[in-house]
Amino acid sequence: MNQLGTLYVISAPSGAGKTSLVKALLDQDKQVCVSVSHTTRGMRPGEVDGKDYNFVAMDQFNSMIEQNQFLEFAEVFTNKYGTSQVWVEQQLALGLDVILEIDWQGAQQIRLKMPDCVSLFILPPSTEELRKRLTGRGTDSDEIINQRMSEALSEMSHYPEYQYLVVNDDFNAALSDLQAVFTARRLELSRQTMKQAKILAGLLSE
Ligand code: 5GP
Repeated sequence: MNQLGTLYVISAPSGAGKTSLVKALLDQDKQVCVSVSHTTRGMRPGEVDGKDYNFVAMDQFNSMIEQNQFLEFAEVFTNKYGTSQVWVEQQLALGLDVILEIDWQGAQQIRLKMPDCVSLFILPPSTEELRKRLTGRGTDSDEIINQRMSEALSEMSHYPEYQYLVVNDDFNAALSDLQAVFTARRLELSRQTMKQAKILAGLLSE
C-alpha cells in the first residue's frame, strides 16, 4: 500500500468519551479523518446513516466479507461492525491520518495487517464515574446498566494490548494527551526527514 498518512486505532468502553474526544480532535486537526464503519445494528435516535455508521442488513454485511471489502470486522455484543479497506487506503495514500474507532478484536486484526499503526486506549477515571456516565438520563433499568457495565469491563480488560493509554477524567486534559500522541508521531525522525528535507539539506550543505 502507498501509505503516506498514519493509521490510528482508538478503542474504549462505552462511556469513556471516545467519540467526543475524537470529534474535538478532528475539529482542530484537518490532517486527520475518521473512518465511518459499516454495522448491522439498528440506528439509534439522532444517528445519521453515512455519518455515524453505514447501516446495512446482515446479508449485505456478509457479502462484503465474502468480497474482502473489510480491513477488519468483528461481532461486538451481537452486532457486526467492519471497516472499509478501500476507503482507508485511499485516505492514507492522500497523506491523511485515519482514525479507526473500533473494538479490541478489530484492533488485533489491524495490528497484524498494519504493524505500523498507532494504537491507543481510552479509560474512564473510575468504576463509579463510568456507571454514572452509562446511567445517562436515568431512564434505563438496573439490568440494562449492569449489562453495559459488564460489556465495558470486558472491553477495558484489553487495555494492555495498546501502545498508549489516556484516562479521560478532565476532558481538556484527555484531549491534549490525545493530541500529543499525534504530534509525537509526526515528529518521528523518519517522517521529519521527508517533510523537512529542504531545511535539512540547507542546514547541512556547505
Ligand atoms: P456502538 O454500537 O455502541 O456504536 O459500538 C459498539 C462497539 O463497536 C464499540 O466498542 C465500537 O468501538 C465498536 N466498533 C464500531 N465500529 C467498529 C468497526 O468497524 N470494527 C470493530 N471491530 N468495532 C467497531
